[in-house]
Amino acid sequence: FWELSTAAGGAGEEEQEEKRRAELFARVLRMYKPDAVLLLGAFSFLLFSVLCGMSIPFYTGKVIDSLRTGYHEQEFLSAIIFIGVYSLGSSLSAGCRGGLFMCVIGSFARRVKLRLFGVLANQEIGFFEANKTGELTTRLAEDTAKMGRTVALNINVLLRTLILTLGVVSLMLSLSWSLTLLVLLETPVAALIERLYNTYNQRILEKLRDSVARANAAANEAVSGVWLVRSFHAERGEARRYDDRLMDTHHLKTRRDTARAVYLLARRLSGLAMQLAVLTYGRLFVQRGHMTTGSLLTFILYQGDLGDNIRTLIYIFGDMMTSVGAAKKVFEYLDRKPKCTKGTLAPDQLKGHVTFDRLTFSYPSLPDHQVLQNFSLDLRPGEVTALVGLSGGGKTTCASLLQSLYQPQHGQILLDGQPLSSYQHHYFHRKVTLVSQEPELFSGSIRDNIAYGLPCCSLDDIQEAAHKANAHEFISKLEKGYDTEVGERGGKLSKSEKQRVAIARALVRHPRVLILDEVTSSLDSDSKNKVQQAFSSGLAPTMLVIAHKLETIENADWIVVIDQGRVQEQGSHQELMEAKGKYYTLREKLFSDTPAASPP
Ligand code: ADP
Ligand code: MG
Repeated sequence: FWELSTAAGGAGEEEQEEKRRAELFARVLRMYKPDAVLLLGAFSFLLFSVLCGMSIPFYTGKVIDSLRTGYHEQEFLSAIIFIGVYSLGSSLSAGCRGGLFMCVIGSFARRVKLRLFGVLANQEIGFFEANKTGELTTRLAEDTAKMGRTVALNINVLLRTLILTLGVVSLMLSLSWSLTLLVLLETPVAALIERLYNTYNQRILEKLRDSVARANAAANEAVSGVWLVRSFHAERGEARRYDDRLMDTHHLKTRRDTARAVYLLARRLSGLAMQLAVLTYGRLFVQRGHMTTGSLLTFILYQGDLGDNIRTLIYIFGDMMTSVGAAKKVFEYLDRKPKCTKGTLAPDQLKGHVTFDRLTFSYPSLPDHQVLQNFSLDLRPGEVTALVGLSGGGKTTCASLLQSLYQPQHGQILLDGQPLSSYQHHYFHRKVTLVSQEPELFSGSIRDNIAYGLPCCSLDDIQEAAHKANAHEFISKLEKGYDTEVGERGGKLSKSEKQRVAIARALVRHPRVLILDEVTSSLDSDSKNKVQQAFSSGLAPTMLVIAHKLETIENADWIVVIDQGRVQEQGSHQELMEAKGKYYTLREKLFSDTPAASPP
């Protein structure tokens, strides 16, 4: 609606837009509530510094008059002392005011960032596929800061100018009402200049923000995927892509700066014209004895202040609404309700019986491509079910859905007879865990990674899990053991080591449902045996083992063949071999090209 109304620009719509902006603005203001005391302090200093500042031209006029009417030392000295004291008072309180405002701005930005992060972290996975990481982080880092900064600074400046303007106009009126009226004639011209500039500037700034976010997104992607860039020799291509976006930003900035230069020139010229007019008329007033030279000087000093103030006032009104532009995007995200539901179930006993009930699913980013079609599957408690099939068949998708990372369009997944969404978030993700195809680790120590997401977890538990995952041995050999940093995304470990840390991370939670997505393929046979022992010891969880190397799943209780999102065949190894169906041919095929077989 926002974009539409800007494009159409009809009178009614413009009004609506203004109203909307005012609402947004009020909303930003309400977010300053926790800093009310600091703000009040800042406003008091503001008022004080403005009042002090306003007295200075008055005493400057006094000094001049004391010189003209013969040398009045007393008058001169007291005027000078007043100027000194008021200047000091004005500067000190202006400093305090600035410091307090900066403090408010900092705490505001922190609050908004934290809230935004909370909202983002709770969005469904599809949201992150639809929005680029670079763009999200820009919003988080820059727009939140800009939103706080511009609004608070504007309020600061607005108040100061408003008080100053009122004060200065009344003082000027007391000096000479006719000269004051003359000066006020400039206001409509100034308003027109400001308005034109503001409208143009707003449009550019909005484009600029998007352009910067796009450039950041390009850089982000290239830097985080530097391995890919390097190994495919794509540095130049990436640089060109980045440069295209930088150029775009650069052009916009040039346009912004040119507009600003023209605007400043126009502003200066109209100010100068008015100064000339005041000098000409003021001279007449002094000659006719309506004013002293000192009061004319005071008047001219005030006039300079007033011109600046009026222009600032008009500018600020526009700018404050523009800064709401940054707020607009932030609010768009803040208002985004995650599609995940909040369940309450957290039973002490969970059997781990999983039912995929006639699922139909396509990824939010590719709504026309049905990945699963009428997919049904039963995972019996404590049993190992193997899911096999060619790559792209939808195996990993099943794992993601069982983790509740996406919501199916039709059908549902039940855990012990209840939909996944009815379980408590924390509980659910402790009881149902995944070791994924591509083990993801966070930067931090091995210990942190194994205990990831668990509020309290003893070193003993961690070591026990690492033993079971056959990871203890390699970890102990590291210089710092469990405190070894794994590097960004676990980059300092090999894939098999990462995989074993990921297995330990899953085991330390004692899950009731465990999903292994092509995990064993990157482990050597020794690790594989140990890990399989670990999984089958104790109170065995329900397991969904996804595999493409079929020899590893012969011992599974139940084998399901999936192809193009449908269950094609299921049964025990023996049964499926005897049936000589899909499983049989898949095996034949995979074994016949085993030497060259690479993981799909
Ligand atoms: P498998 O694990 O059996 O190799 P996947 O479940 O990963 O298969 O993929 C099944 C289908 O879903 C593929 O056609 C793949 O292109 C598509 N797909 C996988 N992940 C996504 C995603 N995040 N967004 C869109 N499509 C996806
Ligand atoms: Mg897969």
